[in-house]
This record gives sequence, structure tokens and C-alpha cells, in this order.
Amino acid sequence: MKLQEEVVRAETPVVHLVGAGPGDPELLTIKARRLLGEADVVVYDRLVAPEVLEMVPPGAMLISVGKQPKDHPVPQPEINELMIRLALAGRRVVRLKGGDPFIFGRGSEEAEALVAAGLRFEVVPGVTAASGCASALGIPLTHRGLASGVRFLTGHCRADAELDFDWQGLADPDTTLVVYMGLANIPRISEQLIEQGLDPTTPIAVINNGTTVRQRALRSTLETVAQEVERASFRGPVLFVIGRVVEMVERIGRLDDCTLEPADAPARAI
Ligand code: SAH
Repeated sequence: MKLQEEVVRAETPVVHLVGAGPGDPELLTIKARRLLGEADVVVYDRLVAPEVLEMVPPGAMLISVGKQPKDHPVPQPEINELMIRLALAGRRVVRLKGGDPFIFGRGSEEAEALVAAGLRFEVVPGVTAASGCASALGIPLTHRGLASGVRFLTGHCRADAELDFDWQGLADPDTTLVVYMGLANIPRISEQLIEQGLDPTTPIAVINNGTTVRQRALRSTLETVAQEVERASFRGPVLFVIGRVVEMVERIGRLDDCTLEPADAPARAI
């Protein structure tokens, strides 16, 4: 890099897109923690757990972009504009996002906006809900003989359009499926997977507020999950882990402190 380019680069503000992990503040990376400690402003989402926000030092300004009145999210262009304005004003901005910023987190859309505005960005990966929540229950996402791969899916579409998946390709008993944002569409997802040939008794773990003190979980199957989820009336984020790996909870799950309820029991708080 030429000297002049290096000078320009050094002077260009950097926005840090930081993964906050699934909720347990001890799952933050050391880098995330350092950047939170150095930030002037922390712009955070609704998904960031209150326990993590408590780690932001009192000197930093906290800005929520999770909700507007009437529960509408702040539109993405406004979030982008806010970050850009703060960074150009010389503030050290941390954009704090639940889980990993680049897994269903729109982190890459924000990065595009920053680059288009002539700014730099750095992503600090976080523990994504899939690994955080499954680990909290003692469920591996892959296991020799049970699952040779794992797929992360969104159960939610733009403007609530119909889910348009390759259902046949998804219905593979050797692959663990992890469904993010799937609460509203779990009836259709489970129905389609059965229709395409997955065993209706395929186990599912449903995890709500995983890794936090509010964690609730229930164990279900493809054929019963829709009903059971409705009965459980969860509040807060919910993740589905579908596949034979869920059976591992019987062998290595920490049932005492994680409580993965059997299918016929209502979910309960732990
Ligand atoms: N970037 C995030 C995902 C954002 S999408 C990540 O990497 O984890 C939001 C979805 O993530 C929620 O609808 C839910 O399905 C899942 N999720 C995030 N945190 C969770 C948690 N603590 N417990 C259960 N599900 C969670």
C-alpha cells in the first residue's frame, strides 16, 4: 500500500459490527468485550440480552434500534444513517448485534452501507444462536453416525411471503436443521419435511431465550411440534434444532440444569 493510501486508510473511521452472542455475557469474545469498553456509542438491537448490555461501561451512550413505538423495528436505512453520522463525527461506534452479525443478522447489509459511505468496518464474530443454544442443552449439531452436516435456515421470509425452500433437499435424515425465526412458520416447516419423507418422530429441540436465566426448552417431534409450541406460548427468541442429534440429550445432556422436557410435558422455566 502506498504511504498516501495508508494515511487515508488510517484516518477513515471504522465501525465495529460486533456479535453479542446468544445471551450469556460470558459467551462474548474477548475482542467484543474490549471494544465495548472502548466505545463512545453502542447501537444495539432488540435481540441483545440485557445481561450483555450491562457490560457496557456507564460512559458509553447506548442507543436502541430494536423498537419504535407500536413495536415496529427502526427501518434499516435509518440505522445505517445513524451509524454513519456518528462515525463521521469521530465517535467510536460499536454496532452490537445478537449472535453473530453475519448469520441472519443483516450485518453484511450494514457493512455495504458503511463501505458505500466511504467508511471502514470490522466484524467481530459472535457465538450464533445455533451453537449457543444447542450447547446449553448438551446437544451437538453434528455427531458421527447421527448427522454429517448442519444447515442453518431462516423460517421467516421478506414481507411474510411464502417460504420457498427446496423441501426435498432439506428432508435429509443425516443433516441437522437449525431454524432461526421459525415460530410463525413451524407448522408449515414440519408438515413439509414430513411430506418429503422425514420420519414424523424425528426429534426436535425448541429453545427459548437460550443461554440466559430465562431459558426454556422443550423436546418434541416433527409431528407434534406445531401444537406443542402453540401451547408453550414462548416470549422472546425461539430456535428449532431438528434431527437425530437431539437424541444425544439423553446420553450427554445436562437434564438437571437445562431441562429439555419430554414431548408430553409443558415447557417450564428453569
Ligand atoms: N444473528 C443472530 C440471529 C438473528 S435472527 C445469531 O447469529 O444468532 C433472530 C433469531 O435468532 C431468533 O428468531 C431466534 O430464532 C434466534 N435466536 C437468537 N438468540 C436466541 C436465543 N438466545 N435463544 C433462542 N433463539 C435465539
